[in-house]
Amino acid sequence: MLEIKIHKFGGASLKDVPSLRQCGKIVKKEKPNIVVVSAIGKTTNALENVARGIIENRTDLFEQSLELVRKYNEPIIKELFKKRPDVPFKFEEIMKYLTESFVGINKCNSFEMVRDQLMAQGEIISSRIVSAFLADNDYSNKLIPAKNFIRTNLDFGNAIVSKEESMKTLFDCGLIYCLRKEIPVITQGFIAGARLDRKPEFYFEGYTTLGREGSDYSAALIASLLVDSGILKAEEVTEVVLWKDVPGVGLENPKKAGKDAKFFKTLSYDHFQEMIEPNGTAYGLVHPKTLKELKDKEIPLRVKNFWKPDLPGTLISKSKRNSGFFY
Ligand code: ASP
Ligand code: MG
Repeated sequence: MLEIKIHKFGGASLKDVPSLRQCGKIVKKEKPNIVVVSAIGKTTNALENVARGIIENRTDLFEQSLELVRKYNEPIIKELFKKRPDVPFKFEEIMKYLTESFVGINKCNSFEMVRDQLMAQGEIISSRIVSAFLADNDYSNKLIPAKNFIRTNLDFGNAIVSKEESMKTLFDCGLIYCLRKEIPVITQGFIAGARLDRKPEFYFEGYTTLGREGSDYSAALIASLLVDSGILKAEEVTEVVLWKDVPGVGLENPKKAGKDAKFFKTLSYDHFQEMIEPNGTAYGLVHPKTLKELKDKEIPLRVKNFWKPDLPGTLISKSKRNSGFFY
């Protein structure tokens, strides 16, 4: 029986060099089969404004936002890859692509479509960084673009996943090969791919996105697709882990509860679902579409603290309502 672990690292867990090093440490210790990453820090917001600058023809907004993309990513690349010219080179290629998009994009294109093509670059950059950084630290891995196996419709900005199409692509993208050979896979959260049936007469790189903060959902979706396609049994996906900046799921909002905050050891799917609703104490902690993918198949979800990885975190599973606190 396989035992597959899927770990997701969000933008706040990848915001600077110490965070990247911490991510590397966690991955080397925990050895997840699949690592899902978001864009570094606030890169996605900056890219959204790059797109806005293009569509609204606002050079100032475009240029400032492009500078922010550079500011969030370049220092990390410079520091981590002093001896690896290929990574900075690929970053410069993306910056060039973004810069040229100002004149390259036909202004008739919809804002949502342009925005997805550009926002996707945040995760492309971060996944290259994480993959290359791990490889440099004797952790060989394979970077597989999420676009190749998470397939959606063309609702840009909040695309709906076609499970049928995605399942068909799972084998071709190399993911299954890697899982069987125990080669760690790095992929992107948040972004997906779609096909235009007509000949693209405008700027379209084939990207869609799953909704802001959607990489939690990506991690759950990958687990769910692997089971739906019959490649794995549900019990073979041992855990989906979301690394966050809180110790776990709190009895109260940890940002308000301060030092006395208490965190659940375990929660049922239903209780957790209540907590992430708009008036729940964990609202915003996890992307709302995440849970459904896991609950139906009873795949466990764990929320863990990125800076205190030895804490158990909160396990969300089919178990009873809750079993006390760990803090
Ligand atoms: N980078 C994307 C965003 O900021 C996705 C994510 O963070 O989960 O919305
Ligand atoms: Mg993000």
